[in-house]
Amino acid sequence: MPLQEIKHPAIDIDLRYATPDNLTGTTIYEHAIAFLHKDALAALVVAAELAGAQGLRLRVLDAYRPSAAQWRLWAALPDPRFVADPRVGSMHTRGVAVDLTLCQADGTPLDMGTAFDEMTERSCHGNTDIPALAQRNRALLLELMTIAGWDHHPYEWWHYNLPEPTRYPQLSDQVEGESLMHTPG
Ligand SMILES: [Zn+2]
Repeated sequence: MPLQEIKHPAIDIDLRYATPDNLTGTTIYEHAIAFLHKDALAALVVAAELAGAQGLRLRVLDAYRPSAAQWRLWAALPDPRFVADPRVGSMHTRGVAVDLTLCQADGTPLDMGTAFDEMTERSCHGNTDIPALAQRNRALLLELMTIAGWDHHPYEWWHYNLPEPTRYPQLSDQVEGESLMHTPG
């Protein structure tokens, strides 16, 4: 498996699908360990170091998503406007997408104008109905991630993926099924 755990001194992990604090209101993951494809992890470390140079931190809200979890998300919210159809697959099930925000050095999240996963026009890049400071914070995250080689998602300020994500295969469920989805005890 090309997946590697996200561990970096300027990155906090706050996987929302490991808690009910997400758009489905239910816990989707049985684990709270964040993984990415090694190519994506290398690009995330570049962004983390750029953030760290400004006294900021990254907070990862979602990363690699096992396809079993994509099915659970789909079962909770079977609407392709909000959740990728698991038969098609998500960029997250390829391990090359990350949902994240920026934080101050003490871990306090910056104001991005909306919550993670708020599926409204206010979550789109370029939306001017949010406070000016939040617009600037989004632009700063966009800048750091773009310099680090990520593509943005026009409708979701928190979502970034490597360019041409379909170059990367959907990752097998076998390993995650045993080692990630069913933690011992
Ligand atoms: Zn995403």
